Amino acid sequence: MDNTILYTIVAGLAGLVSGSFVGASVWRLRARQLSTDKKNGEKVLKKDARQVEKLPIKSVKADRSVCLHCGHQLQWYDLLPIVSWVSLGGKCRYCKAKIGWTEPALEIGMAIFFVASYVFWPYPLDSSFAVLHFAIWLVAGVGLATLFVYDMRWYLLPNKVVFPLIGLGLLNTFVVLADRQFSLAAIADVVYSCAILSGLYYLIYVISKHQWVGFGDVKLGLVLALLLVDFRLSVLALFLANLVGTIVYLPLIVRGRIKGQTHIPFGPLLITGWFISGLFGANIIAWYMTITLGTI
Ligand SMILES: [Zn+2]
Repeated sequence: MDNTILYTIVAGLAGLVSGSFVGASVWRLRARQLSTDKKNGEKVLKKDARQVEKLPIKSVKADRSVCLHCGHQLQWYDLLPIVSWVSLGGKCRYCKAKIGWTEPALEIGMAIFFVASYVFWPYPLDSSFAVLHFAIWLVAGVGLATLFVYDMRWYLLPNKVVFPLIGLGLLNTFVVLADRQFSLAAIADVVYSCAILSGLYYLIYVISKHQWVGFGDVKLGLVLALLLVDFRLSVLALFLANLVGTIVYLPLIVRGRIKGQTHIPFGPLLITGWFISGLFGANIIAWYMTITLGTI
């Protein structure tokens, strides 16, 4: 069999499995977050506590997966990506409660992320730095998917995920800079990237007195800047985030579904901008140059 097909299938399967991992991590993170909030004396809403009361919260990794509704421990055959969900009709095998569509959507979404990354990765994998850069992109994608779902659900970007991602971003920056021989242009790229994606959000955060964006968005901007380490790609990511936001939310605003006070999570928009810019940014910029400057 052609290697490309084989690798594409492997990428798809890795995506399905990581999507399933993200789905479970999100709930465990939520359970731990609420338990920490409670310990710190913050008020935890009853409906929030009820959502995770069946989850053991000792550790994110160590405990087994359980049904959120009945608390039944799930077996390996309940956890097969897509297959389990489809064969059970989207319901728990034990209590028949609806599982919801987030889990299979995440699994399919991550499969698309992995396959698209493998097929459309814009750089040649010709050095160990280049391969490491690609590996960091994939791992970062798993972490960012967790933030994506968490922010959509609870309007929060938990530090437990953001901080390791900042570490990963710093590693990525080092790898890319080393690959570019620590040239001044490369270092300037890093600085400008951080200024546009994180600095701008920080400014809005300060000016709006924390009303328009949260500090989580400032930190997420930093993560994405350190992952892109390219000024033009960072500008494009920001533009795409706003474009996608307009496309998604404008119809809802027009129909009055979203009012001035409604909270719009920026995290998923920024992450979408990062994904498109990271894979297709160079092509989009080249295309933009041809239509504005004209072909010669
Ligand atoms: Zn159940």
